[in-house]
Amino acid sequence: MNKDHFLEVRGLKKYFDADRPSLFSREARYVHAVDGVDFTLRHSEVIALVGESGCGKSTLALLLMGLEEPTEGVISFDGRDITHLNDRERKAVRRKIQMVFQDPYESLNPTQTIEEIINEPLVVHGIGNNKNERDERVIKAMEDSGLKPAEVYLKRFPHELSGGQRQRVVIAAALVLEPEILLADEPVSMLDVSIRAEIINLLAELRITRQIAVIFITHDLGSVGFFADRVAVMYLGRIVEIGTMLEVLEKPQHPYTKALLSVIPVPNPRLRHERIILQGETPNPIDVPTGCRFHPRCPVAMATCKASDPPFVSFGKTHQAACLLLVK
Ligand code: SF4
Repeated sequence: MNKDHFLEVRGLKKYFDADRPSLFSREARYVHAVDGVDFTLRHSEVIALVGESGCGKSTLALLLMGLEEPTEGVISFDGRDITHLNDRERKAVRRKIQMVFQDPYESLNPTQTIEEIINEPLVVHGIGNNKNERDERVIKAMEDSGLKPAEVYLKRFPHELSGGQRQRVVIAAALVLEPEILLADEPVSMLDVSIRAEIINLLAELRITRQIAVIFITHDLGSVGFFADRVAVMYLGRIVEIGTMLEVLEKPQHPYTKALLSVIPVPNPRLRHERIILQGETPNPIDVPTGCRFHPRCPVAMATCKASDPPFVSFGKTHQAACLLLVK
């Protein structure tokens, strides 16, 4: 394993049992939620994981957190295989990999004060020798999350805070454990547009001040441009393109990435591109198309695309997909 890659994911798959087509059918069917994902994450790197809803990005986050068991594949963290762990081992890893969920309204217990919410992970993990030590950690996590001065918020309840402040509480409850990776699953999609930039700026700051790596999961490619180091584009359970932020935003290779980029609103009319509107819906992940799984919607698909499945597009590597010969 490369020592720079402190999180490494290889051949990761998660299939869920699906209903049989009929009562009498013996055919086992599966939802291919994550279907062969490979990527690495470096120390304090920010990767944006982008794709339409249902592409498997949230399931991937749950696999990384150990909240779902993989069907196949390997997840390594800091040189150690963490794919299948017992409860004690999982708890230790969870301290290092924390998740920020999408909905700050549902992820906070309405009966607890902000102080209790942020203190709870310390109690669960047995961190801090005494109350003073824990209080210091709570206050530091709150202030690093932009809840300043912390004393103003400590005794309040979630319903007394705005959406943005609640999401800061969620982030503080993750930070209090001093994690090395934050998995942020659509952390701004439930917030007002005016607050989204503040939360993204906060995550950008934390990666510098706390040296935290961030996996920023989003359906909105336009929201990641200024702070992600790399962008991974997911489609139907797979990463179809991965590269530095500039490479992917300025020279996208995969037709799906091009389509996602083409519909991002651009204020300057001279910089607007032709919009690529994909035909049809994302296929059912139970019946994944043969060959390239994007072929039913691909604007430049060829006959061979129904038969051959290209490897994902990775800059700096030879890409064997026939599609790259076509797509300029
Ligand atoms: Fe489109 Fe074919 Fe490339 Fe798939 S392999 S993205 S269908 S051109």
